[in-house]
Order: sequence, then C-alpha cells, then structure tokens
Amino acid sequence: MKPPTMARGAVPPPSPRPQRPASADLAATLVDLVRSHALTTTNDLCDATGMGRTVVAQRISQLVRTGLLAHRGKGRSTGGRAPRELRFRHEAGTVLGVEVGVTSLAVALTDLSGEPLQIDERPWRSTNGPDATFDELERMIDQILAAMPDRAPLVGIGVGLPCPVEFSSGRPVSPPILSGWDNYPVRERLTARFNVSVWVDNEVNAMALGELRTGLAQGRDDFIYVKVGTGIGAGLVSAGRLHRGAQGCAGDIAHLCIDPHSTRTCRCGKVGCLQSYASGMALAREAAALAESGESPELARRAAEGRQLTAADISEAAAAGDTAGIELLASAGHHLGHALASLVNVFNPSLIVIGGGVSLAGDLLLPSLRKVVYERSLPLATRDLAVVISAHADRAGMVGAALTAVDGLLSADHLETWSHLLEPQVEDA
Ligand SMILES: [Zn+2]
Repeated sequence: MKPPTMARGAVPPPSPRPQRPASADLAATLVDLVRSHALTTTNDLCDATGMGRTVVAQRISQLVRTGLLAHRGKGRSTGGRAPRELRFRHEAGTVLGVEVGVTSLAVALTDLSGEPLQIDERPWRSTNGPDATFDELERMIDQILAAMPDRAPLVGIGVGLPCPVEFSSGRPVSPPILSGWDNYPVRERLTARFNVSVWVDNEVNAMALGELRTGLAQGRDDFIYVKVGTGIGAGLVSAGRLHRGAQGCAGDIAHLCIDPHSTRTCRCGKVGCLQSYASGMALAREAAALAESGESPELARRAAEGRQLTAADISEAAAAGDTAGIELLASAGHHLGHALASLVNVFNPSLIVIGGGVSLAGDLLLPSLRKVVYERSLPLATRDLAVVISAHADRAGMVGAALTAVDGLLSADHLETWSHLLEPQVEDA
C-alpha cells in the first residue's frame, strides 16, 4: 500500500510526544514552584495548581521522601496552626557542567542550584576532534569526582558545545569551525561512561541560562546573551525561558549577513557574515594585517615577538592608546550593533548581556555597539533597554550547562526516572 501523500502546502503533523502519567506533571510543577521560591506552602501550591489538598499533600510527601523537597520552620499563619514551608534540597544531588570551547575545556561539579563545588579548566584545541576531546574531558571528570568522594550522588551531566546542536538528539550538526564533530554521539558516550542522563546544548544557550539564574539577568524575563569569542552566538530568553526554536539553533547569529556586497568569505562559504567582521577569529586576522602593514606599531611589536595575535592583544594595544587597535574594536562594535539592532526589533528584550573573550574589550566595544543599536532599533524597543558586559563570563558556560541538566532532570518527562539515585529521607512528624 502506498503511504498517504500530503496535499501541497499542508503542514506535517508534529511528532507525537511520549505519554507520561499526570502525577509526573504535578510533581514537576510542585518542584518548579518551590525551587523558584514562588510558592512554598501546601495551601499556596493547591491554589496554584488547582489540585485537591489530598493529592498535593501526597505528592509533596513523596517528594520529601525521595529527598527533593524538605520542610523547614514555620510559614506565615493565616489563623490557626502556621503552615509549614517547603524548600528545594539543592544539596540532594550533584551534576556536572561541561563547557567545550574551541580553545579550552571547563568542567564544574555543582549542586542542584548550579553552585560550583569543584572546577577544572584547561587550554585545549577542540579541533583535535571529538574522540580526543572526550578522552580529555573524561579524565577531567574522573579527577573531579575522585577529589570529592563524600559528595551527594551524581545525577546528571550538561554539556555546552561551540556549534549548532540538535537539542532532542544532543548531537552537533554541521559545525562550521569543528570539522569531524558532525553528528558525534555526545550523549551516548557520556551516558555509557558515567551512567547518568546527559543533556547537550549550544554553549551560548548554556551561558544564557547561567546568566539568567546566577548572573546579571536574574529576574529578567526577556533578554539576549551574546557571546563574542572565537565565534559569535546568541542565547534568547523569552518569558523567563530559553527559546531554542524548533531544532535548537535559535539565536545562531554568527552568519547573519550584515553586508551582502562584502568581499569577505566566511568559513561557512557565504559572504558578509557577522562572524567574519566581529569574532575573535576575524579580529585576530585583522590584527595580523595591521601589524604587517605597520598601521599598528603596538601590534607590530607584539607580532615581532613571534606571538599569534588575539583579540586580547588588540584590547591591550588599544588600552595603551594604539589608534589602529581602538578603531578595529570600535568597528567590531559597530558591526555587532547592526546585527543586534535587528534582533532587538524582532525580539524586544529588556537586557543584552555581552560575554565571551572579546567582551573583555568592553569599554572599547560598547560605545559604538550601543550607538548603532539605539539608532537602528524602534524607540519603543530601546526605551528601557540596557546593554551590559557579563560580570562572570568565565563561569556562565559551565554553570549554565549544569543547570541545563538540572532543568532536564526536574522536567515532567524525567523527574520519575532518576530520583531513586538520591538518598531517601525520613520525614519528621
Ligand atoms: Zn558565515
């Protein structure tokens, strides 16, 4: 029999979602409300969920026994006996947040609030390929776990990769910078090695999540995180949640065309991409040209010492008054501003946080970037818009990767699949 054909223009049906018991939905909602400190008493949780007291109390008891929630002290009284408040037991388990950069690796062991307990970072060329990179990462993880034998049980791993990632499968897809990584089974490899669930996302999404929960974007419902490092990417947070898009590549702004008449060919093969104007890679190339032509005496001096020039050299040269270096960073800010102005008009954020290695040149980058964003965006979109440099760019990626795993573990789809790993708790009367 022939399969049914779809009419022209018909929209294919969405793939079916796996069935899960309604109890998992309620448990995940209760944990989410307590974890975000929104609501902490049984009465409030009944009102918020619209569920009966018996059902909610049963579910809370179960979550307390598994060790995810605990009662604490007395809450505010509304007459009669004061209600007991609940708290999320962030100390119940540990997760690993792994940040794979193009030129570095970072691993953090955190509790379930993303608070780092151990950190290891080292320079590394991920262009060495995924097998060598994960061999190295597994060594780092083994050392971290061995250094904390008395820690709470490891319950999940989150990984941020510097390339597009299909979020559902956890696999990199056609990475423009990392050849050999396409479709690499990251989740399968780490699950087999450490026997816990693994989530994989684009590193910029992880950074955005880290910034949202623990950084400058706390309490912001709509914000954009922009990483300007070796490459460029953006993480979009809408209504307090990461917006990954249909396949997981929302916010991949590296190849936005900012000049269709450009003669610069990007590594993706197209011309005029933002990445070929404002990324660390592009700046390093420009710096080498300025050094060679002698337009920048300071960069020429550094190149003569035999070093490979980076964005950090340009920042330092510019800070020392090197005119060509200052102009190069201002020009990068200008190009970034053009791309971000389009995003601001589409997305209407209240905050843009700039992170990544190039953001260390913030004072020299921001004025031209802000100028273009405010000039080219709708007045209403920029009325309360702040553009700032991340205060903890070095940690946002690994903390965010850890929190990606925590969010996955606490989702309704997964909550009941791993809580047996936690130490069971005895509820006091
Ligand atoms: Zn490109």
